Amino acid sequence: MREERVFIVGAGPVGLVAAASLVRAGVPATVFEAGGDLSEESRASTFHPPTLDMLDTLGAAAPLIAQGLKAPKFQYRTKSHGLLAEFDFGIIADATAHPFRVQSEQSKLTRILLDQLREHPDFEIAFNSPVRGVTQDDASVTVTFERNGRIETRSARWLIGADGASSSVRRALGIAFEGFTWPERLLVVSTPFDFHAVIAGLTAVNYVADPERWHFLLQIPGLWRVMFLVKENESDEQARTREFAIALMAGVVPGISHYEIAHTTLYKVHQRVAKTFRLGRAFLAGDAAHINNPLGGMGMNGGIHDAINLTERLAALWHGKADDADLDRYDRQRRLVTLEAIQAQTIANKQNLESPDPAFRESLRTIQSDAHRTYDYLLRVSMIASLRRAAELG
Ligand SMILES: Cc1cc2nc3c(=O)[nH]c(=O)nc-3n(C[C@H](O)[C@H](O)[C@H](O)COP(=O)(O)OP(=O)(O)OC[C@H]3O[C@@H](n4cnc5c(N)ncnc54)[C@H](O)[C@@H]3O)c2cc1C
Repeated sequence: MREERVFIVGAGPVGLVAAASLVRAGVPATVFEAGGDLSEESRASTFHPPTLDMLDTLGAAAPLIAQGLKAPKFQYRTKSHGLLAEFDFGIIADATAHPFRVQSEQSKLTRILLDQLREHPDFEIAFNSPVRGVTQDDASVTVTFERNGRIETRSARWLIGADGASSSVRRALGIAFEGFTWPERLLVVSTPFDFHAVIAGLTAVNYVADPERWHFLLQIPGLWRVMFLVKENESDEQARTREFAIALMAGVVPGISHYEIAHTTLYKVHQRVAKTFRLGRAFLAGDAAHINNPLGGMGMNGGIHDAINLTERLAALWHGKADDADLDRYDRQRRLVTLEAIQAQTIANKQNLESPDPAFRESLRTIQSDAHRTYDYLLRVSMIASLRRAAELG
């Protein structure tokens, strides 16, 4: 029997934003989560200005800001030339109510959202419930999930697959995940070391270009995360050793090599986009729909933008204010900006940081020397431009 609800698979930042947005609009939502609790994994740590604007409408921006660091500025540096450029989101204060990034782990956001949703009568969450299959007909979509060692099924009006990069929903729907995996990997080293004390004028977000080995330095409350590229000829085994992390850290500040290392994580890096974000009554959002390298912090942010775009359409349809054709706009808008803006920008960000060519340094100088260019550039890196582009697509 069809339940009058929207099913969401995955209680990551994208699934819980989708749930919060639906419930707020009076649409009952059920989240199926494979894990026994919310993930603790240390992943995204940057929330962009328009994402904060969206979270504000859900009542989640203020508690997130309270637990994070406000980062109004970011820098580009090189190992050999020092500071190349500094940009200030204050310049786009007319385009956002939050002219800064917030540096905070994504696991803080998921906890804030779940705490707010938990007691709501229209919200339900099923932990320890991995979804194994999805089928649909004209009237409903059915999920098959595992619970206490038994297979169960439930049907609803709509389904959002927000179950991450290896999405079971995407696989069950037979949607291709097109793109490529970089041969290099990414090593994230977290340390309580205070880089402000040794690098004058450092901001909380800093990208350090270098043709040999770039890195970026991101501050979150209590820790700095230093992300390095692991080269194609360096093995995973080698990259997981303490010696490897210590050797890379020794290249960050000349003369400093003894860091306390809180933890290290090695990641594969992909650039992939699902062939479609909609199949009948089922949708893909977040990492289930697209994945990219973390340069520019666009993965989770883009996923939250998907969740808001989609749930506003579903809520309008639910209340008789839109028709089914409007749901196709979700795929049209979000898939195109994912390809045009997020994929293109993150690939360019990586290439710029590792290029020996001075063109990138010169382009930063050109942008900084012109107020209009700086304004447009900040709209682009803050992802406001991609949201405007999506809206133009109609
Ligand atoms: C090192 C690193 C740094 C990053 N930094 C940034 C950043 O600064 N800014 C940014 O925007 N992005 C960043 N990202 C990307 C970001 O972490 C992801 O884009 C984000 O987690 C996507 O959220 P999601 O909710 O779509 O998926 P996930 O966070 O992967 O959540 C998916 C959820 O679905 C659950 N699940 C999986 N399969 C099933 C199933 N079959 N049934 C039920 N539940 C299931 C999982 O347990 C999980 O809870 C970074 C990523 C990495 C690796």
